[in-house]
Amino acid sequence: MAIQFYCANCTKPIEVDDQHAGLAATCPFCGSVAQVPRTSTYRPGMPVASPVNADRATGEAVVHTPGPPHPEAPRAALGRQMGRWSLICTGLAVVLYVCCVIGQTVILFQQFPPPQQPTMKQIQEFNQLVVQKHPWLVATQLVGTLLVGLGLALGVAALVLRPRGNWQGMLSVSVSGLFLLCLCTGSLVVMSMGGGL
Ligand SMILES: [Zn+2]
Repeated sequence: MAIQFYCANCTKPIEVDDQHAGLAATCPFCGSVAQVPRTSTYRPGMPVASPVNADRATGEAVVHTPGPPHPEAPRAALGRQMGRWSLICTGLAVVLYVCCVIGQTVILFQQFPPPQQPTMKQIQEFNQLVVQKHPWLVATQLVGTLLVGLGLALGVAALVLRPRGNWQGMLSVSVSGLFLLCLCTGSLVVMSMGGGL
């Protein structure tokens, strides 16, 4: 037997298994925590959101809504999808940047094998040379930067569409945000050093 009742917050009908009687349930429509009554309180003839699975971690009933979606549902689904894409963009960007750094370090070591200690000026000259000799490094960095920007934009959009439980959006926003911050700081440092020399 299922208990059918109305959400106290948005007044939409919800259905839960009777084992959740007297417990809390998350409303599938408004997301508020609703108190499950001991017996059904809904009027027959109204469509009811079902079925329900128990969340073992919290003991709280989690309500899923199949069938005609609530106006919020497509937004949330889009938010989750965008969160996934933003995470993919950010992940790709990080991989590209790691490749760049490794490539540049390998080339630097080939140019100045240890125990040589290149000076800052030598490294700068070398970096300019690398850019001319290995345009793929610049291209990879450019693509990486674009992907980080895209990841951040998608992540922010995903969080706007689906602010709750969107770990993918949250992760990609924090990683890409931190990344862009490092890039900006790095560029500023390089620029100020270039001006000093
Ligand atoms: Zn509700």
